[in-house]
Amino acid sequence: MAAAWRREGPAARSATAAYAGPVNETRTLAPMTLAARAGARISADGGAPLLPPIAQSTVQAFPSLEVMEAAFAGAGPYYYRDGHASGAVLEEAVAALEGAEASAAAASGMAAISAALLAAGGSQGVIVADRNSYGGTRKLLVETLPRLGLSVRLVDALNEAEVAAALPGANVLHLEALTNPTMRVPDLRRLTDMAHAAGALVSLDATFVSPALLRPTTLGVDFIEHSLAKYIGGHAASMGGIVSGSRQLVLAARGLLSSLGGSIGAFDAFTALLGLKTLPLRMARHSENARAVAQLLAAHPAVSRVDHPSLPGHPEHARAAGLFPLGAGGMLSFELHGGYGAASRFVRAVSPAIPLAPSFADVASTLSHPASSSHRALNPAERAEIGVSDGLLRFSVGLEDIADLRAELLAGLEAVS
Ligand code: PLP
Repeated sequence: MAAAWRREGPAARSATAAYAGPVNETRTLAPMTLAARAGARISADGGAPLLPPIAQSTVQAFPSLEVMEAAFAGAGPYYYRDGHASGAVLEEAVAALEGAEASAAAASGMAAISAALLAAGGSQGVIVADRNSYGGTRKLLVETLPRLGLSVRLVDALNEAEVAAALPGANVLHLEALTNPTMRVPDLRRLTDMAHAAGALVSLDATFVSPALLRPTTLGVDFIEHSLAKYIGGHAASMGGIVSGSRQLVLAARGLLSSLGGSIGAFDAFTALLGLKTLPLRMARHSENARAVAQLLAAHPAVSRVDHPSLPGHPEHARAAGLFPLGAGGMLSFELHGGYGAASRFVRAVSPAIPLAPSFADVASTLSHPASSSHRALNPAERAEIGVSDGLLRFSVGLEDIADLRAELLAGLEAVS
């Protein structure tokens, strides 16, 4: 099917398919290689563009009823909302990197998570989810899904007894690889085993670490979701999401994305594919810079707390080293003495070199203030419960030269000291 979706005749094959074999086989190439070759094609029929075209057409035209019937039966695209060649190329590349049977691209990370949870939960299903999840996911869990007939039990994923008590009768357990913004690391392997023993599927939002640092299929996770707007896209240019897993589960999620109208656009799929090509390289550098920044912040008297799994004092330092041997990614949080006023002074002092931008994972460093952005819907007691104080800043550490970052951060800390 994949070759037909590229419209170049039967001899064309993608570099991932040509070198890596079917994606459900043991991966033979390293992530760096798979990523660099993502979407590149060869054709025995003559020259072909090295990059896949941006398939910006709402509909396919067919020479006959029979050929159109074949497309509807799965041979290729027919209508943009139900899939297009740009999405298919990205899906194949992400599935290869994840070591998953299949992936379905979506209009956003939230569309991917919604599709996964609706597919796993069915109608009247029960979802157990980490209450520390990203704010948009929390809203989906506590407002939207209950309106559609699903029950949601919020738990602390770091409290195994609480998770165990909530699992009986559940259809799915939804987790995040690193909690936002305090960077705690749930025991993903153990929680996955517990959920499976209770007959529940496991859905994991691994956006914070990306497929370059964690391959959740090796833990037995059923649905893996990413926002493409973050590390996979990597340049603050692509909006999209992707859900990966077994062919059967991904088919169910894809059906929901089509009927709910949450499919990815071709240009976003194309820019996400470009981002994917350098993902493993970028993640190594993001992780290395974040470790250095975490150490610098932790040693400064203006800072009361730093959350990054690379620090020896992090509560799950050892677990993170086991789960993410290549690095724990570029996201960290730090709390300034002096609350909101100190956070405000710091933001002004480092701007515009390090801008306040309520997203993350760009190649350049950005800052966010969770209490007034991602977690603003929570009341102060709820924010306090998950460690989001007015003095907390979340730092998305970019790829800059570390000496420049150090100088800029020290100037910012000087301004609040
Ligand atoms: N998951 C996490 C961890 C996020 O931080 C976000 C957004 O910030 C999302 C999912 C949602 O992604 P999107 O904005 O692409 O819908």
